[in-house]
Amino acid sequence: MKPTILDCTKEELSRAITPSFRAKQIFKWVYAQYVDDFNAMNNLPQSLRHTLSERYAIMPLRILKKEISRDGTIKYLFALRDGKTIESVLLRMKAAQYDSDGQLVHHAKYTVCVSTQVGCKVGCAFCLTAKGGFTRDLSCGEIVAQVLALKKDNNIAAERRLNIVYMGMGEPLDNLQNLAKAITVFSDEDGLAIATKRQTVSTSGLSSQIDRLGAMNLGVHIAISLHAVDDTLRSELIPMNKAHNIASIIEAVRRFPIDTRKRVMFEYLMIKGKNDDRRSAKKLVTLLHGIKAKVNLIYFNPYEGTPYERPDKHSMVAFQEYLIAHGLLCTIRDSKGIDISAACGQLKEKENQEIA
Ligand code: SAH
Ligand code: SF4
Repeated sequence: MKPTILDCTKEELSRAITPSFRAKQIFKWVYAQYVDDFNAMNNLPQSLRHTLSERYAIMPLRILKKEISRDGTIKYLFALRDGKTIESVLLRMKAAQYDSDGQLVHHAKYTVCVSTQVGCKVGCAFCLTAKGGFTRDLSCGEIVAQVLALKKDNNIAAERRLNIVYMGMGEPLDNLQNLAKAITVFSDEDGLAIATKRQTVSTSGLSSQIDRLGAMNLGVHIAISLHAVDDTLRSELIPMNKAHNIASIIEAVRRFPIDTRKRVMFEYLMIKGKNDDRRSAKKLVTLLHGIKAKVNLIYFNPYEGTPYERPDKHSMVAFQEYLIAHGLLCTIRDSKGIDISAACGQLKEKENQEIA
């Protein structure tokens, strides 16, 4: 199978072709014009178009299924070239913007949630992605293609900036090399131009990999899927916690290079009767003491066969109020797209059930 051109950083491409300045033009065709045929790149010489077609493919995935939620969230199921499937989600939020006359015009703010692996090795007890086990890492091009395909499918103008969250299927830090490369390709000014500060890597807490990501100094944000304040419960929910316990994660976060104006996000999945009590809230405050943190409370999204339950709104709000009263920033994630199987892995799982 030919490599895809989305696997190349601009520097790599300029080394691979002559003259090297053509790499910039190719990036513009692919990422700003959404062209997926080298022959259509009409400012390139015929011979180069031919060489490129011989050597590279462009899109390594195609849309298999799409679900549109009432709130505008769109969830995609993509088929990769080997037939494996992954999910991505396009979230739209209303953001106030002003036109050149100072008039208020509402503009959607886009965030794309991308996958980094087919399946996942971490095996969290509450996560549907974990149920299917681990199949393989995504290549850089397969990560990049998700955003490109979503922009193209929704006719989002090339110059519209969007945010990326690595919160789809898989553990991003378990595929660090390809992740880092994708972050670089995304941020290329001649490509999608998504600044690294607009990209957030969500991790289940591989503390040694948090250090490695930090050492790369890419400028991305991190979000930690904490979900529990004591190691016994966290190890039940996230088995890998035995090797990378809460203390080791907190230490790694303290070492992570963070933009001084920003905060580290801690995700806290609320499960009824497990971690939604006052004692846990109190312990969370102690644990995050001295860290510029922001807590995002997430409702557990149930699926068939899970022993866990969604908490009620009252305990969610009480938890939030306790944290805020004790000086922490805390938001409740609105259940965007809850009517379209929003939690990671759920669309894919549905597809498997329909096929079976
Ligand atoms: N592997 C990374 C990123 C992908 S998971 C991580 O774990 O952080 C993205 C988020 O979805 C995580 O915070 C995860 O805890 C959450 N999630 C998984 N299953 C869920 C469910 N059933 N309901 C709500 N959130 C879920
Ligand atoms: Fe993997 Fe994240 Fe799901 Fe855990 S929650 S199994 S780390 S994708």
